[in-house]
Amino acid sequence: MGGRETDMVLLDANGIRCDGRRVDEPRRIMIRAGVLHNANGSAYIEFGDNKIVAGVFGPRDVHPKHQSNAETGILRVRYHMQPYSVTERKRPAPSRREIEISKVIKEALLPAVMLERFPRTAVDVFVEILQADGGSRCAALDAAAVALADAGIPMRDMVSACAAGKVADTIVLDINNEEDQAGQADMPVAIMPNSGQVTLLQLDGVLTRDEYRKCIETGIAGCRLVYDIQKRALAERHFKGAGQ
Ligand code: ADP
Repeated sequence: MGGRETDMVLLDANGIRCDGRRVDEPRRIMIRAGVLHNANGSAYIEFGDNKIVAGVFGPRDVHPKHQSNAETGILRVRYHMQPYSVTERKRPAPSRREIEISKVIKEALLPAVMLERFPRTAVDVFVEILQADGGSRCAALDAAAVALADAGIPMRDMVSACAAGKVADTIVLDINNEEDQAGQADMPVAIMPNSGQVTLLQLDGVLTRDEYRKCIETGIAGCRLVYDIQKRALAERHFKGAGQ
């Protein structure tokens, strides 16, 4: 998180951000469900300049067998960045960051997925980041949740994610890569929109108590916008399916 010398660029006198958005305006979000033939479920998302595809397999046999659980199914998530997804070629081996993000995405999805119905099986979620531009874990989570629903995995609720943050001493919705690098705080949030339960909350940066509250509220408002787009993606998928 950077200093205040970049504030003029990040937020102008009219309250317009470096990419032309207002403080409460998300980037353009497009989600398509059922984009892959060979996965049980899939989704593609464009969240600003993030481009991400998620594929789901399962419930299926667990390999290696020792990972299986007689009481419940297990969820496995891999978040992976393509070498060309960022400006400097990313090395293909899994980085610590990718391992951490895989873990937080899994933990954010777990409360929603009814794995207890499928003991001794695994549900695998593979997320490929084709292009990253800040907020990729939230966008990946949004695509993964739609892919799980597209696979017909029983879910208690959808999972919807969006980050909020602080730039130029102002709380803003959905920070982009430039704001992430030069801004003051980044807070990815995910909720189960019907229950309201928060399933992901991270914070990189420093906020006062009031800013913290406002940042969570802003992130949750973003999640609700995402939820409408997720529902539409699934409805369009099923409509198309019925017509075929
Ligand atoms: P998130 O993508 O969830 O915001 P980070 O805050 O860790 O996660 O990363 C912010 C952004 O930094 C990413 O979206 C991406 O645009 C960029 N980034 C991440 N890893 C790399 C990397 N290895 N090389 C260059 N840019 C990267």
